[in-house]
Amino acid sequence: MIDLHCHILPGIDDGAEDLAASIAMAEKAISQGITHILCTPHHNNGSYINPKAEVLAHVAKLQAELDRRNLPLTLFEGQEVRITGSLIDEIKQDRILFADVSDTYILIEFPTMDVPAYTEQLFFDLRAMGKVPIIVHPERNAKFREDPNRLIPYLEMGCLAQLTAPSYVGIFGKSIQKTAKLMVEHHLVQMVASDAHGVHKRNFYLKEAFEEISHDFSPDLVQQMEQVAKDIINGDKTNFPTYREVKKKKFGLF
Ligand code: FE
Repeated sequence: MIDLHCHILPGIDDGAEDLAASIAMAEKAISQGITHILCTPHHNNGSYINPKAEVLAHVAKLQAELDRRNLPLTLFEGQEVRITGSLIDEIKQDRILFADVSDTYILIEFPTMDVPAYTEQLFFDLRAMGKVPIIVHPERNAKFREDPNRLIPYLEMGCLAQLTAPSYVGIFGKSIQKTAKLMVEHHLVQMVASDAHGVHKRNFYLKEAFEEISHDFSPDLVQQMEQVAKDIINGDKTNFPTYREVKKKKFGLF
């Protein structure tokens, strides 16, 4: 299994606080059946700045520690990039890490309560550059939770969306879980990742989420989501069933 979103690097954001915590996370990941992790420390989220060059060094160091302990886990370099008006400039300055080596897929985080007004223009510009924004945890954003169909214009542009595994199994409460299930049911999200921050706080739950999705929908859907993760890491084109609009009545708004 590939985990496309994880705060496993020690001491650089609100994820693993030190090397021991990173190793505990690695052991937990392996026990979940995870073989590859995209390391995605926060970047530009108001608390943490982790530009590309620094992340590369941290990943190399942690990979060496895993190898020394014979822990069978491969790390890739990435970032969870908070949406800002200066993102394109930062890409040009080589401060941004993509999910793949061909620099196509980029994990983008919104503020919890908002979708900034400039989002559409920014995503349009990124798409024109051949980049594919991946909106992370839309089920945890107030605007997308209020109306999951707000994802549709971005999906139409060729963006993707990534669900957080703990949301699906109910760790963030019933409301977020309900939204997560709706988003999966309507194919508004094309992949699931852990967004794990530690083994005591915000654990992986990736295995559990896939088991529940398989039970709620089908093993095929899980297989398709896992393939999307592989395609992203490889910088390949992704294939996923087309989204369906969520009927308002079903979402209980009216
Ligand atoms: Fe995250």
